[in-house]
Amino acid sequence: MLEPKPIAKALGYQSIQVPVAVRLNTNESPYAPPESWQKRFTAEVTNLELNRYPDRDCTSLRAKLADYHQVNPENIWCANGSNEVLLLLLSAYGGASRKAAFYEPSYLMHFYISKITDTQVISLERNSSFKVSADQVLTEQEKNKFDILFLCSPNNPTGNTEDKDQVTAICRRFNGLVIIDEAYVEFSSFSFESLIHEFDNVAIIRTFSKTWAMAGLRLGYVIANKEIINHLKAVTLPYNVSSVTQVGGLLALDYENEMKQRVNLIIQERQRVINTLKELSSLYVWDSEANFYLIKPTTIVASELHEKLLEHSVLVRDVSSYKNLENCLRVTVGTRAENDRFLDALNKILK
Ligand code: PMP
Repeated sequence: MLEPKPIAKALGYQSIQVPVAVRLNTNESPYAPPESWQKRFTAEVTNLELNRYPDRDCTSLRAKLADYHQVNPENIWCANGSNEVLLLLLSAYGGASRKAAFYEPSYLMHFYISKITDTQVISLERNSSFKVSADQVLTEQEKNKFDILFLCSPNNPTGNTEDKDQVTAICRRFNGLVIIDEAYVEFSSFSFESLIHEFDNVAIIRTFSKTWAMAGLRLGYVIANKEIINHLKAVTLPYNVSSVTQVGGLLALDYENEMKQRVNLIIQERQRVINTLKELSSLYVWDSEANFYLIKPTTIVASELHEKLLEHSVLVRDVSSYKNLENCLRVTVGTRAENDRFLDALNKILK
């Protein structure tokens, strides 16, 4: 039997899915999309001609997204979740002769997608505030000669944003491709999307999975200059975004106000929970600009806390094997009731 590539024998990206009452492990929205969206979506799906392939170029969806971002449709490309957008970028710009810099700790799929596409990964470290500086990138690029740089703002799993001036300087001084993953951007105070007007080497990644409350729909997209989009088009499998997904995304954009209300609720909850946790002496909690936050218990091992929370039917993410996140757990912000259940379980365990 033919030996697979080493990456096919590795465990790959791990995130357990078990039935629990309180699911705070995958940074999904705790709220369903609006009822009116559900109704219109159901009606439109019923009318779809599913014997026909979908619009290969997602023409209407890209036009509406372009309006939303005040760019041209030629600056947008859609895919089956933002993970597929990342795969397309690496398919077009990565490969065995290319190197991608991955600043740890960050979203591990950046690492795995590089490996899947045979791109060499240069693993580097964020500073103690989990940020990446321009000087650091330039010095390390000089040494390691990487072609692609992954940034993530807010960064998963640490929750911090990158600094505007540092990222701008990186885009100006690094002539490879800068991928800025903004999966959680609406939970933070600013986006880097305007950089695409200034630099031709920037790709901004967005998703419908978090703030738009549609992780099950599988829709992600990239905003970049049109040359990048044309290269992505060339490596995209035909009909990668289903008709159902295209309809769902199109309709979702009519509910921007509802999306913003959900985001505000989650931000309020995030602050309430973080402030409550800051009063506990038995753990450290980091500030966050995302819909999750990082905690580090000081009186118990993180994996044990993870297990004990599971006994209370609360599932969080154990990130203690990530670089520089020894003994840390990442917790998604849920509804008020879910967060209270988490806090209650935590208090019982840490008592
Ligand atoms: N980027 C980041 C930083 C993420 O955390 C995630 C989801 N966990 C994704 C991209 C992928 O999201 P999706 O494929 O659902 O759009």
